Amino acid sequence: MIKISLKGRFCAVCGEKEGPFLDNMCENCYKKENPLEIKIIPSLDIEICPTCGTIFVSGAHIDTWSREENLEEIIREISKSKILEKTNVDFSYNSEFEDDIEESKIMNYGVKEFTMITTLTAKPYKEFGEFRKEGKTRLKMVRQGCDDCSKYKSGYFEAILQVRGENRKLTEKEEEEIENLIEKMMKQYEDARLAYVLDLKVDNDGITANVSTKFLAETIAREIKNFTAGKLTVAYEHKTTSKDGAEVYTNTYLVRLPEFAVSDIIEYENQLWQVKNVNENQVKMENLENHNLKNIDRKRVENRAKKRSDEIILREYMLVSKENETVTIMAMDNYENFDDNLERIPPKKKDGEILKGFLLEEKNYYVE
Ligand SMILES: [Zn+2]
Ligand SMILES: [Zn+2]
Repeated sequence: MIKISLKGRFCAVCGEKEGPFLDNMCENCYKKENPLEIKIIPSLDIEICPTCGTIFVSGAHIDTWSREENLEEIIREISKSKILEKTNVDFSYNSEFEDDIEESKIMNYGVKEFTMITTLTAKPYKEFGEFRKEGKTRLKMVRQGCDDCSKYKSGYFEAILQVRGENRKLTEKEEEEIENLIEKMMKQYEDARLAYVLDLKVDNDGITANVSTKFLAETIAREIKNFTAGKLTVAYEHKTTSKDGAEVYTNTYLVRLPEFAVSDIIEYENQLWQVKNVNENQVKMENLENHNLKNIDRKRVENRAKKRSDEIILREYMLVSKENETVTIMAMDNYENFDDNLERIPPKKKDGEILKGFLLEEKNYYVE
């Protein structure tokens, strides 16, 4: 029986007697037989759009940082992670980098090159010592307008956003609130790709805008719908031609605001009310005969109520005095005094206070 003591071992390839050994080979021979395939990429193209600042590395865009960050640091981090990503290694290693990237030169006209030196250290075999690999990567910076920016310049859009009132115009307040809402949303999308609103128009029809993508248009439309308790419908595939002549199939996202707007004066069950709030299912309204608030089914109100806002004559009054259930009122336009019922006056009004209201069919109403 042959016993191979540790002392008696030698490399099967070169005969080396000094260990350590792996698969009966010394470190040198083992590494020659099983070379570690580590290739550090020799060059990396980095394109930067001078308009939007988006960075593209080997064709794919990278926009996972906030634009306030230092560009030099961003380019450095992107390069490092791209180099490691392209270095196909299936064991754990440490990496170190050295580079000559300079913030002030990154956006220079023409092609600007920097160099990054990558050093990888690893100990893939516990029997053998540490392994070290160094590689140089040329980082080529190119200023190049991106597709999205050229689309924006050419007026490209995939969707139309429309906001309309149901059988009515939008109120000024609604116009303002919806415009603010769109503006606020677009702030969130400032750094997003291909996210823009073109030709926002506010006119007698309502609000109309061209929106870069269907996704963005739908997102904005849903937000407006929720905010206004409106209804959203989508019409598909209206073909339009963008400014550069390309034909695009656009969707139209239409939000219809409720028939009755907040502060509308409506007639419902032979009484006058002011609309206070409208949600998906209910209308909250104030009875102008006694200032009680009521939530009423929205469909019911929309079917039975009639809008009277357009027929009223705005008027101001002064509450002169109160006596029991009777108040004396003075109309501010002709100083005429008359009596009315206390419950018709908004609650908590004091003598001498001005009331805002209106005249409809020769009857006075007090709103606030
Ligand atoms: Zn050997
Ligand atoms: Zn761009």
